[in-house]
Amino acid sequence: MTVKKKVKRPVRSNAKLISENEALIHELAEAKETLRAIQNGEVDALVVSGQNGEQIFTLKNADQPYRIFVENMHEGAASLSVDGTIFYSNRCFAELLGVPIEDLIGTSIFDFIKAEGVVEFSYLLSSENSHRRSSTFDFTTSKNQSIPFLISMSPSEIGGGNGVSMIATDMTQQIQIKEYEKQSKELAEAVRARDEFISIASHELKTPLTSLMILSQLQLKMIAKNDPKAFEEDRVKDLASKTVAQTERLNILVGDMLDITRLKSGQMSMKKSNTDLFKLCNSAIERLSAQFISSGCKPPLISGTKTMGYWDPMRIEQVINNLLINAMKYGNNSPIVVTISSTNEVARFSIMDHGNGISQIDQSRIFHRFERAISANEISGLGLGLYISQQIIESHNGKIWVNSENGNGSTFYFELPLGY
Ligand code: ADP
Repeated sequence: MTVKKKVKRPVRSNAKLISENEALIHELAEAKETLRAIQNGEVDALVVSGQNGEQIFTLKNADQPYRIFVENMHEGAASLSVDGTIFYSNRCFAELLGVPIEDLIGTSIFDFIKAEGVVEFSYLLSSENSHRRSSTFDFTTSKNQSIPFLISMSPSEIGGGNGVSMIATDMTQQIQIKEYEKQSKELAEAVRARDEFISIASHELKTPLTSLMILSQLQLKMIAKNDPKAFEEDRVKDLASKTVAQTERLNILVGDMLDITRLKSGQMSMKKSNTDLFKLCNSAIERLSAQFISSGCKPPLISGTKTMGYWDPMRIEQVINNLLINAMKYGNNSPIVVTISSTNEVARFSIMDHGNGISQIDQSRIFHRFERAISANEISGLGLGLYISQQIIESHNGKIWVNSENGNGSTFYFELPLGY
């Protein structure tokens, strides 16, 4: 059995409580005023009554100018214990955090540091390293705003124990300036790339147009002179095949430009049907054979068998065409070998040439938009074919890559899931 003792509390009258309350409010106002006066450097000394009588603490000494300086500076300053308790804050730091100084003192700095910075901040606080240490941390203010601070800490003694003095520099503006600088650099680079593309594209379009113009003008002149050679069968055939080749070139260039626009706006859709990769390759090689011969190169050899998959035949043929034309352009007229193989899951296409090859650094770059590993003066091109090919292959969940060594030719591969 427990026995409850009844405690008799002293009863105080309402009037007494009111007068005690008023006295406390008065004392608090006095304390706040003293704190304000100390922070403004208006107090020379403090007289504190204690068990040992009255003691005088001098405030106006050689440190006073520094105290005023710290109070008025436009950076946050605070003294912390090694567990993060705030013993002192200047006006700026309290304002940045959106907390009155009197409420800030005694709270933990960790109440304001974002979770991702807590471990590093604790490490800096407790570091044995006696040197100045600094790092950037994101703080959350009382108004839930985020402020990036550059925090610099130096060890200092606080109330006889270990602590740190901390300077907090608001980095918001600097970070914004850096961001603007980065954006304007990117913008300038995009404008430069666009201008370069326009100039290369105009040049590329002009080349076949000029040769079509020259062929037609020559023919017209011969007709005007009633030159019978103008109508010789071989000449007319040659004229027609050159016209087809140049028109085809124009068609590919304009097609690539349209594809880029479609890819950017996400409008390139795949129209899949049952497709034989081997047949597709054979017909692409056949269609390009005249072009191979006229560029001084034998049409590629092909090995493989019927390989069926569920793909967009027009788009896959576009990839094959691009790889065939590249082998013709960059293969130094060396023999070209195309191989088709498959497993139960994927079909693989490869095309090998013995041209100059591609350096290791350029191998991933050439699959990006407008990227070329060769100058436009050497061999013309827009640097779009491999980028578009990669987008097409990836739209079929496949992959495209190259194996090459400088000076030792290149083999381009693509692999497509059969898609059934
Ligand atoms: P383009 O041929 O119009 O420049 P591509 O995107 O098809 O555009 O090719 C990008 C670059 O990749 C080419 O400029 C060239 O430097 C390099 N390249 C492509 N195929 C080969 C190849 N078979 N051998 C060597 N380099 C190649």
